[in-house]
Amino acid sequence: MNAVRTVLALGSNLGESRSTLADAVAALADNPGMKLVAVSPVARTRPVGGPEDQPDYLNLVAEFETTLDPHTLLDHCHDVENRHHRTREVRWGPRTLDVDIITYGTAHIDDEVLTVPHPRAAERAFVLQPWAWMDPHAKLDGKPVAELAARAADLPGVELFEGE
Ligand code: ATP
Ligand code: CA
Ligand code: CA
Repeated sequence: MNAVRTVLALGSNLGESRSTLADAVAALADNPGMKLVAVSPVARTRPVGGPEDQPDYLNLVAEFETTLDPHTLLDHCHDVENRHHRTREVRWGPRTLDVDIITYGTAHIDDEVLTVPHPRAAERAFVLQPWAWMDPHAKLDGKPVAELAARAADLPGVELFEGE
């Protein structure tokens, strides 16, 4: 099977978020069908949606080459979330780890469990800005990611995380 480039977005705002993100990238790559291509710098971001008083997030994006089909990739992302004790309680509420599939090659998928490109990614600076840092020429559905980031309403809440 031919390898496809896929961009995944990771976020965490509970627990040891920085090490959770690093562990999660390693766990995502630890699969015969996954090869890590690039990881973005970490962004510290103000929460978008969900409860008002939840802590800031750390976010990153990572690009992989994958031979997993999209639904197997989604299962793999959920496995990695579950290893970090992800629970789903409040919509957009605080979480130890969230892994979303942003793009899968140039595929467009829309079924009960999977929508690709991720339907909210084009408006989310917390996804777009780290992606543009990683790859200044990246495109999402033909549009420059850096330009989409510049237009996203949540851009003022996104900063480079320089902690350990
Ligand atoms: P958002 O989708 O707005 O980022 P969320 O990440 O908090 O919200 P979750 O509770 O993590 O939402 O996911 C809900 C469901 O979304 C998952 O069980 C999954 O089946 C579905 N889903 C659809 N498209 C995608 C995608 N591209 N990546 C990850 N999950 C997706
Ligand atoms: Ca998400
Ligand atoms: Ca998710």
